[in-house]
Amino acid sequence: MPFLSPGTRITVGAHGTLTVIAYIGGGGQGEVYRVTVNPGNRVMALKWYTNEFILRNKAFRRNLEDLCRRPSPSPAFLWPEAVTARVGHRYGYIMPLSDELPDLGQYFCPDVFPDAYFRSWEARINAALAICSALSKLHLAGMSYQDINDGSFLIHPVTGHVRICDNDNIVPHGVSTGMQGKVRYSAAEVIAGRAPDQASDCMSLAIVLYRIFAVDHPFEGRNTLGRNLASMSAEDEAHLFGSDAVFCHDSRDDSNRPDRRHQPNSLFFWPHFTDTLRAAFAEALSRDAITLPKRRYTASMWQRILRRERAALITCHGGGDSHDFLSADTLPPRCPYCGVALHGELWLRFFSGGAYRLTDGKALYLQFDSEPAGRCRRIGGNRSTDVFVLSNISSDTWTVTSPGGGRSSVPPGGQCRLMPDDTIDFGRVRARVSQSE
Ligand SMILES: [Zn+2]
Repeated sequence: MPFLSPGTRITVGAHGTLTVIAYIGGGGQGEVYRVTVNPGNRVMALKWYTNEFILRNKAFRRNLEDLCRRPSPSPAFLWPEAVTARVGHRYGYIMPLSDELPDLGQYFCPDVFPDAYFRSWEARINAALAICSALSKLHLAGMSYQDINDGSFLIHPVTGHVRICDNDNIVPHGVSTGMQGKVRYSAAEVIAGRAPDQASDCMSLAIVLYRIFAVDHPFEGRNTLGRNLASMSAEDEAHLFGSDAVFCHDSRDDSNRPDRRHQPNSLFFWPHFTDTLRAAFAEALSRDAITLPKRRYTASMWQRILRRERAALITCHGGGDSHDFLSADTLPPRCPYCGVALHGELWLRFFSGGAYRLTDGKALYLQFDSEPAGRCRRIGGNRSTDVFVLSNISSDTWTVTSPGGGRSSVPPGGQCRLMPDDTIDFGRVRARVSQSE
């Protein structure tokens, strides 16, 4: 039975008064409600603490009040805006209300949540990039998330858009509120008792990113076989996911390889990764990274890797439906799902560095953007008569310049034919159309 009933009014300092509309859900720390805040009639979310450890923790409340005074590092965070007055000894805080989206944990339970699966590699990469971008900004602002886990992220399965919740655990560097992360997502030193920090966030990040791409947990394999993961002792769990953890695709230690029956996703997806992605995970989840916090991949390192992976993605229309796959080493690249070879491509070579592959149906993302600026279409039946067209779905007008100096404008909603050696000025960046990378 939820603690607060609809219609309950609670003061929120200078923000006014909230009125409870409906109960949304509850967890170990407390309950979440949909509320309106007046004056202003803003619809927001209220997190209401019921956990006695938190309610008695003065450092936690002080930190929460401090967070409310700080600007949100990224719109992806459902950032705390104000702490409420107490009702009895209980209190809560208000934050933006998210659309209803599955959390990452639901993506690992297809039997219970059949709609929680990524519809494309583009969505997976977008989700991974959004998480890295938000975390990178948080770290730059001198804070750490402390408790990254599969409940921290609400993710749209089609676009990969991300909202980050439970931001009340975030602390500035050097501050500790005594909170500990979830064991299977924590760094070894945190499981051993040290306070979480930015380096431990990076370990959790590598685990979360691997699960976005391969579903199964990176430290589950033969070593965890035969053990009931739900009823494992705290000591065993601390070893297998902390100090003794072995990545199931570790390049030096094959003792914890995925099991065909229990980690089928780790086995299935790994061969679909590019060499770059495999090498990144092998290093970011290596024994060195597990034991030495300085050896971990930062969010900004992942951003650069993921941006290149998104640029190289290939769309495919084999088998009657549209899907995509990560770049392959074969020439021409062949789809691992339907076996069809890539039919025609063009590249944008950016003057600021980097190249972007355009194939039939592929979205064009500029830099680290989460929204596409364009979409490419191939018109024509065979390779010799292929015509590629790029639609402008951004809010900027593009300028296309031909090698002869002719110029044309492509307003939002317009499109242009892609001709090798043409230059396109997208507003923020410029690129040359090329037949190869
Ligand atoms: Zn295919």
